[in-house]
Amino acid sequence: MNLDERSEKRLVGVNDALVSVVRRAAKKLPFTLFVVEGLRTKERQAELYAQGRTKPGKIVTWTMASKHLEGRAVDLAPIADGVILWNDSAKFDAIALAMYSASKELGVPVRWGADWNANGKPREKGETDSPHWELA
Ligand SMILES: [Zn+2]
Repeated sequence: MNLDERSEKRLVGVNDALVSVVRRAAKKLPFTLFVVEGLRTKERQAELYAQGRTKPGKIVTWTMASKHLEGRAVDLAPIADGVILWNDSAKFDAIALAMYSASKELGVPVRWGADWNANGKPREKGETDSPHWELA
């Protein structure tokens, strides 16, 4: 399915090659792919970094040098009826298949936050960043 207008807006400022992979992956999926976040400001990254450290909440990022700051990363999730399906691992895995396939077709290597070592075993070490994709 095509990306909706909201997702397209969130791809502004993201690397063109990565955007092409995301659009192509979206077309392969039988459900709507949602772009949660693309380009991130330094302020937003600092805010996320503080979460779980100097501010309440759970830790959501491990770095102040995120590829989101350079427009070289996106966070993707399945969505249905306007609700992001954060816990639907099967759909995140389907997104991964579509992303890898699109990446191969376009010759744009990508890395997945749920399988950093790319051995095909998502979340084997408890990786929690299933939405995260970045240029490799
Ligand atoms: Zn991310």
